[in-house]
Amino acid sequence: MTTLSTNTPTAELQAIDAAHHMHPFTHASQLNAKGARIITRAEGVWLNDSDGNRILDGMAGLWCVNVGYGREELVDAAARQMRELPFYNTFFQTSHVPAIALAQRLAELAPGDLNHVFYAGSGSEANDTNLRLVRTYWAEKGQPQKQWVISRWNAYHGSTVGAGSLGGMKGMHAQGGMPIPGIAYIDQPYWWGEGGDKTPEEFGLERARQLEAKILELGPENVAAFIAEPVQGAGGVIIPPETYWPEIQRIVDQYGILLIADEVISGFGRTGHWFGSQAMGIKPHIMTVAKGLSSGYQPIGASILCDEVAEVVGNCEFNHGYTYSGHPVACAVALENLRILEDEGIVDRVRDETGPYLKERFESLTDHPLVGEARIIGMMGSIALTPDKASRAPFAAEAGTAGYITRERCFNNNLIMRHVGDRMIISPPLVIAKSEIDTLIERAWKSLDEAHAKLK
Ligand code: PLP
Repeated sequence: MTTLSTNTPTAELQAIDAAHHMHPFTHASQLNAKGARIITRAEGVWLNDSDGNRILDGMAGLWCVNVGYGREELVDAAARQMRELPFYNTFFQTSHVPAIALAQRLAELAPGDLNHVFYAGSGSEANDTNLRLVRTYWAEKGQPQKQWVISRWNAYHGSTVGAGSLGGMKGMHAQGGMPIPGIAYIDQPYWWGEGGDKTPEEFGLERARQLEAKILELGPENVAAFIAEPVQGAGGVIIPPETYWPEIQRIVDQYGILLIADEVISGFGRTGHWFGSQAMGIKPHIMTVAKGLSSGYQPIGASILCDEVAEVVGNCEFNHGYTYSGHPVACAVALENLRILEDEGIVDRVRDETGPYLKERFESLTDHPLVGEARIIGMMGSIALTPDKASRAPFAAEAGTAGYITRERCFNNNLIMRHVGDRMIISPPLVIAKSEIDTLIERAWKSLDEAHAKLK
């Protein structure tokens, strides 16, 4: 066996990668045909690959590297914690300082009375926890028939069987026996793609009221919770019309349904607020967090519960937990990451300075002939590619590769942008500077030009 390093030739790394490494959400034939791009180092918002390219990371890894790459403070926090206590569990009435300190900090940061933290290793695990939590909550309150959880088509809540079922991705449901029973779905508030000739405001209300209809169909006495991302991420960065969330809040309040806000992407500054729930003005009973919690430097997720839910579930022994629930190294890194976000005023800067600048530049992409709309909040945004702006038409199915073609052009122009169908997404590190925003927009424009020439 050869010892591999970043000095190993790219082709050799790619061949071994294709032979032995199974990638998430990747078709093996793609790897065999082209090989994976191999990332070797990173600093700030910049990635280096094994061919010597310097790439602007417009996706913050997978929506997670909020404080940017190369933060020595996080390296030191991990090393310190590994030396002192590399692992201990939090089961059976044991605890340790990093888990305690992070829970205290999250309780301070999270809005309202979201004061109680149940740790997980990822966003998917935290959503699995939530599914069991909300059902346990109602059972403890003497209403065990309240089992249904309502979600939305095209939502993404993770990849485990529970979280994948909570999500509304039909491509995922088609594989491996999902969804599990007891999850119902309503349509997403995607005005550009599905709003027809309604105004965004009318459409937002209409889609929110599907929740009421679904609750009445299932019977309010049978519904445990509604789960949603404040702003859909993996579904295409879908920012709902302004009428949507206030109406959802009215409905969950009226029918006494728990609201779970999945903040895995929208948490920790991504929207220019600490949490997307604050940006949307909603009051969840439970928040799911991960990704930006540690800026991706360590795998960690959590469910943050309000007082009432924590008290009720606390009446029983909740038979649930992961070996890495409250992993000390992950907690220590997350705590240091939250300190950086706070001390450097990163969230405020996104809200008041770099976010508005990015918005102005990003929205100028609608001057490009391929771009029908550009929507952005804080540092998460998307553009819709269309052959006809007036009718908001999608590309024909056989040309449905417009997003893919543009993403490939971005790749070649050393910019990471992701595509979901014909929506192109950005979610850069929150520390991106104005000059780097300019570079991002220039490279996006050039890539759009090249894609446009190809699609003609
Ligand atoms: N929830 C949302 C909103 C997400 O975007 C993701 C991941 O992208 C998840 C949950 C799952 O998190 P993880 O990949 O850490 O399991």
